Amino acid sequence: MKTLTALSVLLLALCAGARHPQVRRHGWMSPTKESSESSSSSLQSSSRSFTTLTKEYPYYHSSKELLEEARRLVSGCKSAALRTIQEGDVSMDVVQMNSTRSAQAARNKVFILFGEHSRELISPETGLALLRELCEGSSELSREVRQDSEFLLVLNGNPRSRPEVEGGDYCLRTNPKGVDLNRNWDEEWQKDSVSHGEATNPGPAPFSEPETRLLRSLVSEYKPTTYLCVHSGTLGLYMPWAFDQVHAADRNQKAMMSVLEELDRSHCQCPYGAAGKEVGYSCPGTSLDWIYDKLQTPFAFAFEIYVGNGQMAMLKEKWRQKAHASSALQINHLANARPDFFKAHPSDFIQVSNTEVAESKNSRDCFELYNPASEDVFHATVNNWVTAYLEMAQKVSKHLQDGKGA
Ligand SMILES: [Zn+2]
Repeated sequence: MKTLTALSVLLLALCAGARHPQVRRHGWMSPTKESSESSSSSLQSSSRSFTTLTKEYPYYHSSKELLEEARRLVSGCKSAALRTIQEGDVSMDVVQMNSTRSAQAARNKVFILFGEHSRELISPETGLALLRELCEGSSELSREVRQDSEFLLVLNGNPRSRPEVEGGDYCLRTNPKGVDLNRNWDEEWQKDSVSHGEATNPGPAPFSEPETRLLRSLVSEYKPTTYLCVHSGTLGLYMPWAFDQVHAADRNQKAMMSVLEELDRSHCQCPYGAAGKEVGYSCPGTSLDWIYDKLQTPFAFAFEIYVGNGQMAMLKEKWRQKAHASSALQINHLANARPDFFKAHPSDFIQVSNTEVAESKNSRDCFELYNPASEDVFHATVNNWVTAYLEMAQKVSKHLQDGKGA
């Protein structure tokens, strides 16, 4: 049976590989550009060095390809630059994109962190597609967003572990030292957060890891007005606090909540609100809380953008039932209203999602839990969230412009 499955995967990969040049392009790239650039792209099949990931799922990028494609996009992109930050042997690539309205400072400075957990491969894919859309401006929305917002994008927030995932270790969440990078920030950091399982090991001390130190420097220097980290393993749109199960963050609560509520309706139909409260248990040491608190960032969010293994439809249906049951979705009653719901669908951002699957070390199950395993779902997911990120920037800009939430 296993042999048959492996053979099917191989055949599927080979078939899909033959279509590779088309596979890489999706709705966010204009047809004209597709054909004119296809011959010059360094990502075409002839020069592609395959990983287990790109053999099995050819519509995903390896780390090297993510960087190469980001470089290619940035080279033709107005007011954009790519640089690498480094500490010791750990380096992180950063794309900075200024507003196209050059005479005046952009109102909204958007910092987005993708791939903090290495197995959540779909997260960086949405980041790359966002970069493509911002550079190529194929929609009215993206052109408008580029006028009023500037961006700093980290596409690969766990660069040392990601090659292991690409080599087939699809359950790997932590950095190579086994530290959960989203427990290692100095905001209510707790040594015992490891009690939820090995995959949430907070490290020996806050900012013990080079990855979190690099991100801390980067985000502190940038001083964003919008912070977003993108995860997968469930669906949810969150704001602080994550460490506290009781309170939604006070500062700018109404404005943040209204952005989440609108995005939820169009792009998620899933739980939204204060992170810890939404899931019913605390999550110390997250970037979300640190950035909101220490940098006083007006809009701080964490999105969970995908869950597989057949759980998506069930989760959405449950959410619809709960939403109907509650006449108005007020943040104060959410946690009480749905304890069973969150027990069944713990957030990967908050805790280890679907611990049993992750700990069973069944790589295939892990891949499919965190990432779309069909090309159609992959593209639909990417397109949905690229639009959501753009709308988030647009909505925050509007709030800042109106003087609310600044
Ligand atoms: Zn995650």
